Amino acid sequence: MSVLIFVDTAEGQVKKSSLEALSYGVKVAELAGATAEAVVLGSASEDLASLGKYGVKKVHHVNNSTLDSFDAQVYTKVIAEVAAAAGADVIVLSNNLNGKAIAPRLSARLKAGLVSGAVALPDTANGFVVKKNVFSGKAYANVSVTTPIRIISLNSNAYPITAGDGVAEVIASNVTVDPPKVKVTSSSKASGEVSLTEAEIVVSGGRGLKGPENWGMVEDLAHVLHAATACSRPVADADWRPHHEHVGQTGFAVAPNLYIAIGISGAIQHLAGVNRSKVIVVINKDAEAPFFKAADYGIVGDAFEIVPKMTEAIKKIKG
Ligand SMILES: Cc1cc2nc3c(=O)[nH]c(=O)nc-3n(C[C@H](O)[C@H](O)[C@H](O)COP(=O)(O)OP(=O)(O)OC[C@H]3O[C@@H](n4cnc5c(N)ncnc54)[C@H](O)[C@@H]3O)c2cc1C
Repeated sequence: MSVLIFVDTAEGQVKKSSLEALSYGVKVAELAGATAEAVVLGSASEDLASLGKYGVKKVHHVNNSTLDSFDAQVYTKVIAEVAAAAGADVIVLSNNLNGKAIAPRLSARLKAGLVSGAVALPDTANGFVVKKNVFSGKAYANVSVTTPIRIISLNSNAYPITAGDGVAEVIASNVTVDPPKVKVTSSSKASGEVSLTEAEIVVSGGRGLKGPENWGMVEDLAHVLHAATACSRPVADADWRPHHEHVGQTGFAVAPNLYIAIGISGAIQHLAGVNRSKVIVVINKDAEAPFFKAADYGIVGDAFEIVPKMTEAIKKIKG
């Protein structure tokens, strides 16, 4: 068996979710007594040989400027060709936005079984069985993959990053890169200090905050925690906050280590996007708010009193 891990980058930097995918893919290879290799597309500002510290022996680098902008069709074809050249029979990627766009295309192109949103290492005692989240994280399914090539997209925060001190051989790969069929004419970068989907901590506000003028305290708390800001859907619908902050069933799904929900009731559609968070803290003045059932820690009280005090306390602790 040979495992190929797609390493996703943003502005040349390897994403945290890809470091998890690397650690996971290396372990999959180790359990099967196989080797793990990585593939990086587009220019990279990091020393790719250093990816060896996560356990990969080789990094295939397709350094073509067309790949500096993400295009799912172009990426899929390139990864498929690198996988064929490397003889990979397991391909691992992150179940992030790019991974979600690539994985099904790759699956169709390679006629490979796909497990999207995996949360555990494959069980190879009887075939190749991978555990994944289903029903927006409310249940698990164990999926048996029977195709010769298998694709696994790994949920963020489902596997720890494990680093040693290896060095990988970087191989310049010159597979053909097609021009994209879709031309991006302009793009604008979302503002915010920390990317929501990659954040370790998310501070999120709901309708309980009464209006956009009150978001300063959410941003202050996010700032001291080096967290991303998020919001419930009605908040984005009312234009209190931009839509790229909306989390839930119809917004982004996030899985940070810590999710702080302020003035959010915890409707099922909101929980669908945040219930994979490691620790959930809920601040709500209504002790009966449904979010408390999903919370690890709950504070019943007025957010306008609690949040500034929390921010000050954290500032003091951090010095
Ligand atoms: C098909 C569909 C898809 C949807 N998708 C999403 C989605 O992706 N994401 C999403 O978020 N919603 C989604 N919704 C909407 C969802 O059902 C809820 O209506 C929404 O999440 C409620 O937002 P909220 O908790 O901010 O507001 P509310 O339900 O109005 O809750 C406000 C909360 O703030 C508390 N509060 C009030 N004042 C204070 C205070 N001073 N201090 C502390 N707490 C206070 C209240 O007790 C209350 O619990 C969807 C709905 C549908 C039908």
